[in-house]
Amino acid sequence: MLLAIAVILPTICLLWFMSQAVKNERLAVKQKLIDFCNDKINSSRTTFSKTDTLQNETNLNRLKNLVSLPDIWLQVNTIKEDADGVLIYDANDKLIYPIPYQDSRTEFTSELQNAFELEQKGSYQQALEKYQQIMDTNNSSSYAIFAASMGIIRCLDKSGQDVNKVQNLFYKLLWADNQRIRKQLTPTQVAMIRVRRIQWLAEHKDTITAGDMYSDLDSWYTPTEAYPAETTIWALEKILKIAGEYGQGYKLDESIKRAEAVIRTEKISLACAEFFDNNQLLPDWPIEKWKVFKTDRSFYAIRYLIDGKKVLLIRTRENMLSSLQPYIKTLSMNGIDIRLFDNMNNLLSGPVETKNKPFITTHFSNQFPDWKLELCFKDNSVFEDAASKQTTIYIWTGMLVVLLILTSGALATQAIGRQIKLNNLKNDFIATVSHELKTPLSSMRVLVDTLLEGRCENQQQQTEYLQLISKENIRLSRLIDNFLTFSRMERNKQAFDFAPANPAEIAMAAIEAVQTKFNKENCKFTVTINDNLPSITADKDAMVTVLVNLLDNAYKYSYDDKQIELNVFADNNLVYFWVKDDGIGMTRKQIKKIFDRFYQADTSLARRAEGTGLGLSIVKFIVDAHKGKIDVESKPGKGSTFTVTLPVIKT
Ligand code: ADP
Repeated sequence: MLLAIAVILPTICLLWFMSQAVKNERLAVKQKLIDFCNDKINSSRTTFSKTDTLQNETNLNRLKNLVSLPDIWLQVNTIKEDADGVLIYDANDKLIYPIPYQDSRTEFTSELQNAFELEQKGSYQQALEKYQQIMDTNNSSSYAIFAASMGIIRCLDKSGQDVNKVQNLFYKLLWADNQRIRKQLTPTQVAMIRVRRIQWLAEHKDTITAGDMYSDLDSWYTPTEAYPAETTIWALEKILKIAGEYGQGYKLDESIKRAEAVIRTEKISLACAEFFDNNQLLPDWPIEKWKVFKTDRSFYAIRYLIDGKKVLLIRTRENMLSSLQPYIKTLSMNGIDIRLFDNMNNLLSGPVETKNKPFITTHFSNQFPDWKLELCFKDNSVFEDAASKQTTIYIWTGMLVVLLILTSGALATQAIGRQIKLNNLKNDFIATVSHELKTPLSSMRVLVDTLLEGRCENQQQQTEYLQLISKENIRLSRLIDNFLTFSRMERNKQAFDFAPANPAEIAMAAIEAVQTKFNKENCKFTVTINDNLPSITADKDAMVTVLVNLLDNAYKYSYDDKQIELNVFADNNLVYFWVKDDGIGMTRKQIKKIFDRFYQADTSLARRAEGTGLGLSIVKFIVDAHKGKIDVESKPGKGSTFTVTLPVIKT
């Protein structure tokens, strides 16, 4: 029991420690992974902080150029790489870009009315003169000048006059230096005249050139004055339409692309400007921080302060995502999902759903306040895999130690078992010895006492008593011999004195030892010893003990009428000692156990017969030492035959 506890307890402890170690290992691996990821995130943050800030010199210069009007067109063209729109406010929060639309008064004066009616009537020459007068009048409004110039072009066209005149007029209106008229026109009116010119050129295909179309699309970006965003969108869309219809054959692809980009930038900027105008978001916008805002769609914007002006660079969701992609890529790791949420918790990048909860949730970067970065294991096997190697080592070591404990436990059990058995043996031995010695000693004492007291009736009785004492003495000596042999045998101290011996001599010595006992009327003892028996290697005394024990048993376990036979013969290089009786016999079960120490068959006769249960175990021990064999044949009530076989000495 104690031993079991001694084995089981440490094993359980070890298994517990092992499971803890495995758990700790998993945690350690997870922690290592978290540390590694945090390092990666930190280093990519450092890279982030170098972009989109004014500490970056190219960034600063680019933005400085952007705010210095009227080169805005060129700048808008340059920002389109990293922004989809831009808003610029002056120090008083007045919108500078996109340029707001200013209405010019559209009064239709009576002079204009007259000229227009003449034109309607088909009196083109008169109408022309009227229109010309309006243009030449110093105090004409910008709208009157614009409308009159348009009227002149219509009349010249309709009256089929020289196209050069129209060309010259366009030139005068748009490009001629030092023009009073040119100065009076509003940017939107100038833009409208430019569009009209392209339309006119398109209508007169023969005169339109690639250069005309090209310069109008491209030179839009470097005008001497800036146009309101709405005007630009309207004008460029018109020109693009004409370019699409008439411009094939002219290599305008690049110019068209540029114009489309400007329209897109203007539209986005305009939409955002309107949104900000209505929502008063700007004052709370932190400097150099990216935030999301929603018009009819999501936009991301960063605010800068340049030369006292507030600049907002605007990105669409797609552009924001693609510009962040390189940074997210630097974080990407096998088996890990990376999710990026903006400040309104919109998922910007990464899978919509993840299998596991995030093991890292952290802010994204300083320029992105309230943005969130989440790292999740695609499946738990990632760190399981990493931990499994160490775990395997733990499990193997643990199993080895458990095996060691179990083996040593088993060995200890065996040793203790052996010790217990030996102890029991010792106790049995002492009990048997004292019990067996007591009987002959007490009967001898009674006999001796009787003799000493002279209570014998005659000489014959005296001799009888003395013979009884001698018999008890012999029995006692044999008992003691057996005890000594057994004791030596158990201590492995029994030394045999092997020498060539004559089987007949051994048999004779045994017969002599039992003779007194067997020499009775009720005991028929038959001895057959073949002549010329071959010699055997034997310890003569030990072999005599074997035969005496077997003969003694034959006597003891026989009924009152005894028939005992001793046969010694040789056959096939073997010498046989054959002891047969017609006694009580044994069952198969008993036969199996009779050579065990202290075994006595539990029959009434066996109990009556004196015995120690040691005789046959001594016999077996001696026969085995002689490399011989002992066989038993017996049936209950039918007697027993013990056969000892020893090899003869080879000559
Ligand atoms: P014991 O001192 O009891 O005779 P043994 O070792 O000589 O011890 O014998 C063991 C047991 O074998 C005996 O108790 C007995 O029951 C049985 N036995 C031995 N020899 C015979 C025999 N010839 N006939 C019947 N039983 C026998």
